[in-house]
Formats: sequence, structure tokens, C-alpha cells
Amino acid sequence: MSPDTWVSTDSDPTRLSERRPPQSLFPNWLMCIPFVVLHLAPLAIIWTGVDLRSLLLCAACYAFNVVGITLGYHRYFSHRTYKTSRAFQFVLACLGCTALQKGPLWWASIHRHHHRHSDTTEDAHSPVVNGFFWSHIGWIFAPDWNEGDPKSVRDLSRYPELRWLERLHWLPPLLLATACFLIGGWSGLVVGFFLSNLLSHHATFLVNSACHLWGGRRYSTADHSRNNTLVALLTFGEGWHNNHHHYQSSANQGFFWWEVDISYYLIRLLAAVGLVWDVRKTPLEKLRCEEPAGQPRNAMPPDCQLHIPTITTSPAKTQSVAS
Ligand SMILES: [Zn+2]
Ligand SMILES: [Zn+2]
Repeated sequence: MSPDTWVSTDSDPTRLSERRPPQSLFPNWLMCIPFVVLHLAPLAIIWTGVDLRSLLLCAACYAFNVVGITLGYHRYFSHRTYKTSRAFQFVLACLGCTALQKGPLWWASIHRHHHRHSDTTEDAHSPVVNGFFWSHIGWIFAPDWNEGDPKSVRDLSRYPELRWLERLHWLPPLLLATACFLIGGWSGLVVGFFLSNLLSHHATFLVNSACHLWGGRRYSTADHSRNNTLVALLTFGEGWHNNHHHYQSSANQGFFWWEVDISYYLIRLLAAVGLVWDVRKTPLEKLRCEEPAGQPRNAMPPDCQLHIPTITTSPAKTQSVAS
């Protein structure tokens, strides 16, 4: 399967005018229980207290969770923006599992579906179609999205160890929680494990919600994706979401030096020590903003006018993500 079949090239803006209610208004209550526990558990701080050790554990676990999602589930498993060994692929999958967002096959399947149907009625979590709350949390409990589409992740499911981990996706977070308890006692478990997971959940969920509502649009993609600096800082670079929707095959989502992208810096570090390779970058021509024929230059987004050389194209030309 070509990497370019995993990403959307659909650029028909008329589909955004379609609206329909959320796919299912009735949540799967059983699925809500772990989510509610995750949100209530940090309240136990009242009894456990907070110390420096638990705060350091919290920071470390937050970094594990976010890196697992950004480097692992998103930039590797969903988009294959770099290559690695089978052993390190499994390490990335385990790291992603610690974020309590199910297994890599489910996550990649839902995410590839998002790119194919961004901000349409088919999208699992579009705030444009179904509102902020639905895109941030609500869709997770809808039975519609409880299962991914196995056909869309055949390139991943051919690895038996990934299928095994998909079934036991709760095992890495259980081990991490145990380690937090052994290192920091009850406050290590509550602050180090539960609070960090709560924070990383909402930080990464902001990419689905806030990054399709608020921020700049350097590239006129067919969806409503935005570049949001705050979300980019919280999620180690995932907030450059308009860049990402414009060119999904790139390992870097911050396209310019001033767009801080910690996940990409880590990928470069891993490449430098030989753990990953063939890191894909955005071609120069894809960095440019397209200038619609007949439109004045000052009609373009401000950062295009200031920083980026322009190319003139026909309005009928569709964007391609192939490389
Ligand atoms: Zn993506
Ligand atoms: Zn998106």
C-alpha cells in the first residue's frame, strides 16, 4: 500500500455545507467508566498530597504519553513519515499505549479516516460539523467509533506483535502505573500517573477540537484545519495542524524554524543515533502558498505574504500530498 493512499486529497469544499447530528447521541456507558475514573482519580491528591517526586513523575509521564501519541501513533503508525526497525516499532506502540488512547491499530484507523473525511459528516470528530464538545470528548463514547476499520490498517496488522498489543493495550499503562506507585507511592500513582494522563488526554484532544476551530490558515486546505501555537506547545508540535493537513507525509509539522516542533526534534535525534531513518520532509514547493489566479497578493494569509515565496496556480488545481 502506498503511503499516499492513507491521506486525503479530496478538496471539494461543498461537502462542508452538509450537516447532520452526531453519529450516535447515545454513549456506550461501559466505555465511559475508565474515562470517568481518570477524571476523578486526581482528586485523591486531597489525601495523598503532592511532592517534588510526584511532580517530576507527572512531567515524565506526560512526556511519555505525548511522545507516544505524536511520534508513535500519529507520525509513525498513521502516516509512516519515517522508517524504523520492527523492534523499535514495538517500543513506539507500547509508548503510545501508555497514553490510554487504545491500541495503535484503532488509533491509526480512526486517524486515517479523519484525513479522508476531514470536516465532513463522515468525520469522527469534526467540531465544524458537530461542535466543540463532540470533537473533544463526545465521539470517543459513540459506539460508531468503538471499532476501527481493519482494511485501512492492513500494513500494520500484518505484524502479530502489534495485533497482540492491540488486544492488551491496557498492559503498558498498567506497568507504568505500577512503576509510578513503586517510585512515588500513592502520590506517585495519583499525580504521576493519573494526573499526567488527564493532562495529556486533553492536550492531544485539542488537536481534534481547537485545531479545527481557532488559529491561522496558511494553506487553503479543503477542511477547517488551523495552526494553533498554544496547542503546538502543549502537544510537542501537533498544533501546526493546517500545515499537517496540507502535507501529511512530512515528519515535521512545524514547517519553519519559528514553528516549535519538539516531536520533530526528537525524530531527528533518533535518526542521528540510527534508531529511525528515511525521515520525510516537506518538499520546497509544498511550503509555498498558492496564489489564486486573479487575486492580489495581499489577499493571501499574512505569513505567506511575509515569509514564503509564492507560486501562481490555476484555481482548478487540486492539492496533492504525494511525494
Ligand atoms: Zn494526521
Ligand atoms: Zn485534523
